[in-house]
Amino acid sequence: DSLQRSDLVLFGVLGDLSRRKLIPALYQLDRSGLLHQDSKIIGVARDSLSDSQFEARVKETLKTFVADEELVDDVLMRFCKRFHYVEMDFSKTEAYQALKAAAVEDVDRVFYLATPPSLYATICAGLSSHALISESTRVILEKPIGHNLASSQTINQAVAKYFQESQIYRIDHYLGKETVLNLLALRFANALFASNWDNSAIDHIQITAAEKVGVEGRWGYYDDAGQLRDMVQNHLLQVLSLIAMEPPSRLDAESIREEKLKVLKALRPIDAANSKDVSVRGQYQGGFSGETKVPGYLQEEGARQNSDTETFVALKVNIDNWRWSGVPFYLRTGKRMPEKRSEVVITFKKQPHNIFNDTTADLQPNKLVIRLQPDEGVEVQMLNKIPGLGKQMHLKATTLDLSFDETFEKKRIADAYERLMLEAMQGNQYLFVHRDEVEYAWRWVDGILAAWEQNEQPPKPYHAGTWGPVSAVSLLAHDGRQWDE
Ligand code: NAP
Repeated sequence: DSLQRSDLVLFGVLGDLSRRKLIPALYQLDRSGLLHQDSKIIGVARDSLSDSQFEARVKETLKTFVADEELVDDVLMRFCKRFHYVEMDFSKTEAYQALKAAAVEDVDRVFYLATPPSLYATICAGLSSHALISESTRVILEKPIGHNLASSQTINQAVAKYFQESQIYRIDHYLGKETVLNLLALRFANALFASNWDNSAIDHIQITAAEKVGVEGRWGYYDDAGQLRDMVQNHLLQVLSLIAMEPPSRLDAESIREEKLKVLKALRPIDAANSKDVSVRGQYQGGFSGETKVPGYLQEEGARQNSDTETFVALKVNIDNWRWSGVPFYLRTGKRMPEKRSEVVITFKKQPHNIFNDTTADLQPNKLVIRLQPDEGVEVQMLNKIPGLGKQMHLKATTLDLSFDETFEKKRIADAYERLMLEAMQGNQYLFVHRDEVEYAWRWVDGILAAWEQNEQPPKPYHAGTWGPVSAVSLLAHDGRQWDE
């Protein structure tokens, strides 16, 4: 495909996200020939660095975060040539003059704000005051867009003073994942699934995003958020929306985002009357991560003793519309789980009648398992006849397993940030989150937080290295179901 030229300005180029994700992703795009040959990248931060010092930092970053065999000398040289550094304090209006002087060419420009969100308004105002925003300019915003509905509206309004919604690209990195995108292919390219995607065929759906790690030295930041804000408000609700939405008429931003929004609007509120029945909070205590003994949340470095922030949450979510009436979506996400695993499990209804007289089989329901990470793939669990003679047929649960690694061998799976930066630089908005989605998601999450407070629902303890508090098991057991292991 022909590439549009756009230049990128990366605010916060020396920060953690830029180092670990953005600079390596840009390098990989360049290596794959997906950056326009003339595209330039301007890195902006406040350290005083000469061009050669900056180049040394970029090279050091790539050495750390890109595999040796992927570091190709001529790509590295081309990449460093594109990259320039501008030193400025984002909070000082006059500092934008330095950026103006560096960004002289009349090209489409994308500003990536990899900075604390508290700076978004200031940066947009600074860009505007130096006439750095035109109709073709785009801005990429990192999460979190606010801490609740009110603060997300404040951020969105501040940015909207300078950019139209069609120029604003809000990142949810889950939308850049190969396997999350494959949900669209699975649903809308396969009649087998498309015609069985509702309450007549599906019993219930589970979405799990389990992390093996704890707070990783970010206790203060994490404690202000907690797992509901950090994972459910954005990533899990995005995955849920893609699974639950009606077929969009086209694969474009407007059509997809409209359908996702309808799902968010149809989420049944979790309030003080039902929160104890449909939500579980947990906080990890000391335990084991693999063989290693690890401290509890309140013993982590920098911890405040009486914090009741949740590090685990499980929810039973109902979508009040025609398609999903009676089909619960069970969501669970937590830190210090036994393994890192994100997946969606769709359990179909049992056959209404067993003709096989095989008591061992009990006609277990079909399951479609979509492994988002690691070991990306799709599997279908089904019953098969065990080969053999005899009057009685014996059945066995078997799995059709499509591992991306094995099926698409030699195909490197791109990091989510590669795809997202490519789409933003090419002006495609369909993998980014609309303002209304952010705000409807917060509206629903705010309701849960208020219910927890009103019901004085403290987090239940669970040992590090387990799947959360016992009540997460009861949440499903109460409905005669269990988490897929
Ligand atoms: P970070 O490490 O603190 O980086 C922020 C960068 O902005 C640093 O280079 C910092 O420079 C610079 N900066 C801050 N204030 C400035 C100012 N007034 N003038 C000039 N430079 C300034 O943060 P981060 O972890 O990369 O996160 C960046 C954004 O991505 C945040 O919105 C965060 O929520 C989001 N995010 C991060 C991750 C992640 O894995 N890190 C994941 C998801 C989302 P100094 O070093 O001089 O302060």
